[in-house]
Amino acid sequence: AIGVNRKMGKDGRWARAIEIVKEMEEKCATPIGKLKQVADAMVVEMHAGLASEGGSKLKMLISYVDNLPTGDENGLFYALDLGGTNFRVLRMQLGQEDGRIVNQEFAEVPIPPNLMTGTSDALFDYIAAELAKFVSQEGEEFQLPPGKKRELGFTFSFPVTQTSIASGTLVRWTKGFSIDDAVGQDVVAELTKAMERQGVHMHVSALVNDTVGTLAGGKYFHKDVIAAVILGTGTNAAYVERAHAIPKWHGALPESGEMVINMEWGNFRSSHLPLTEYDLELDVESLNPGEQIFEKIISGMYLGEIVRRVLLKMAEEAAFFSETVPAKLKVPFILRTPDMSAMHHDTSSDLKVVGNKLKDILEISNSSLKTRKVVVELCNIVATRGARLAAAGILGILKKMGKDKVKVGDKQRTMIALDGGLYEHYSEYSKCMENTLNELLGEEVSKSIEIVHSNDGSGIGAALLAASHSQYR
Ligand code: BGC
Ligand code: MG
Repeated sequence: AIGVNRKMGKDGRWARAIEIVKEMEEKCATPIGKLKQVADAMVVEMHAGLASEGGSKLKMLISYVDNLPTGDENGLFYALDLGGTNFRVLRMQLGQEDGRIVNQEFAEVPIPPNLMTGTSDALFDYIAAELAKFVSQEGEEFQLPPGKKRELGFTFSFPVTQTSIASGTLVRWTKGFSIDDAVGQDVVAELTKAMERQGVHMHVSALVNDTVGTLAGGKYFHKDVIAAVILGTGTNAAYVERAHAIPKWHGALPESGEMVINMEWGNFRSSHLPLTEYDLELDVESLNPGEQIFEKIISGMYLGEIVRRVLLKMAEEAAFFSETVPAKLKVPFILRTPDMSAMHHDTSSDLKVVGNKLKDILEISNSSLKTRKVVVELCNIVATRGARLAAAGILGILKKMGKDKVKVGDKQRTMIALDGGLYEHYSEYSKCMENTLNELLGEEVSKSIEIVHSNDGSGIGAALLAASHSQYR
């Protein structure tokens, strides 16, 4: 039964609260052996997803990107990056000489929450209107000759079944978006219609997932990049696969012999995943129950919410904060991952940041140092599980690519491009992820694997792919 046992004394309540945290810690445990099982399960699902359409929870989507940027791209290109709480418009002038970026400018605009669950037209009109604004503020030097359209790489960070490099239908929404009438539609057609309505003259030359964009952007700067991982609001990975290892691909074999695969690993699920009652409840109450289970224990949208759920249980069963349950603690998603991260990183001796967050967000004042320490411990448990599982996912990719073992005489470096707010700003998380990956690979192999932060690689990559798929080439 839920509710504080009134007969429990102060000490009894404290003991019960600590017990809840300990139980959480045990259920979230990710010993190396388990992580290896997760990585192996990931490899099995990768094979199944490549074998046939619908063969696995891992969709292993074909990106139609069979060539990554070389550095020879040049001209004026745009990117539109939609996928989280903000969207960005980017303009890139690529140089004639050795393909460097000559000029780059971007605008970032928050997406009003009501548009995330409204209609397709409303969302795309809003985006197209912002594009129109961006273009209208440009100087003379960026004006194109009449009749020529600006070319756009569209980074759309949701699962899409591509029908070509510049078209594809939305499989489903993730990350708090839920716009029913867009599902099954060609998102490029939706954007193009909205641009026409808003009088924007742009042509979408490439439609890419953010992981694919990040891979392309990463490769542009570091030729050894072979995979990309996003750890942000959501999570996902893309990598370069050999085309003949994709049985479900019935098109012509690309000249390069390669194809970038968007794994959609957020939807990975395995009996080896350490799931708790809190995760199951979070899932049931989410906008997409039963889906994106890996994402729901790894990514930025959910980590703070998991912590909130455990704290709520501690408040209800053990009066952890006060006699009554703090009302704010009952509000879903009120504790955001950036706040969790700030608490986790609090190095002050009295955990002042934790105290302030508890007060400002949850209206819990006068928390004791003892209480604050437990909150930090809980953040650590939840972040550690996520980070270690992310590392296991990366190990899975390296295994699939045959890069998890040192081969004699092989001096080649392997680089993985990473991006996303979680990776970028939650340093306890990213440190833990990188340490775990090294631990999984062992000292020798880990020397040959390097993680690079591909800052805003997804937008840059989309513009680069727009360049290599330009209609004016
Ligand atoms: C989406 C992916 C995306 C990832 C990171 C997930 O929710 O399904 O397409 O790459 O978030 O943005
Ligand atoms: Mg960034």
